[in-house]
Amino acid sequence: MSEPTPPFPASGWIEVIVGSMYSGKTEELIRRLRRAQIARQKVEIFKPGIDDRYARDAIVSHSELRIPSRSVREAGDILRYAHEAQVIGIDEGQFLGPGLVRVCERLARRGKRVIVAGLDQDYRGKPFDPMPQLLAIAEYITKTLAICVVCGNPANRTYRKVRRGGLVVVGGADLYEARCRRCFELGRRVSAPESPSPPGGSDETSPVRPRQRKPRPRRRPRRGMRKKG
Ligand SMILES: [Zn+2]
Repeated sequence: MSEPTPPFPASGWIEVIVGSMYSGKTEELIRRLRRAQIARQKVEIFKPGIDDRYARDAIVSHSELRIPSRSVREAGDILRYAHEAQVIGIDEGQFLGPGLVRVCERLARRGKRVIVAGLDQDYRGKPFDPMPQLLAIAEYITKTLAICVVCGNPANRTYRKVRRGGLVVVGGADLYEARCRRCFELGRRVSAPESPSPPGGSDETSPVRPRQRKPRPRRRPRRGMRKKG
């Protein structure tokens, strides 16, 4: 993948890597950070404390690439540890809140190369703050695509397979899958997650389609859709 080369020495900049889950964002982030380390640049790597799915003290890609990192509670914490660094890597930027934008700008102003990976859309397909704001101010943007698990087309959406409330529900393949635009919309039409889950009634293991309680006029396919064959 093409990678920016520094325009002038001592000029900082922001790179953003966005895409759905399973699109290789973290892998790409790790690749860039490793290359900087090989060049003996001072690298500091951060991730939000909320995401300890794979490790507390490392960023781990789905392909099991791994690089040591520091967990932070909020974006402002990054400034405390970034003084010496030439290159700053941040994973799962969507969990670090609106303050991340100012933090990245401050770091870039100090001459640092800042690389942020994150989800650009939430499970509803809506822009996932603060990634849209970061995309607007970044010098370099990379969009990564996954493969739709339903039809095999390029996928840029993250589909939540269970009906569980809240914007932020950290999970892996048990909760989320990559889908193309069409399969994402078909799935959501079937499961109708726009309506909030009933109080106390969110079923963590319920499938995409709510269980049918009454017979319906038209039988719908299981799991929302089937691969046409
Ligand atoms: Zn699809």
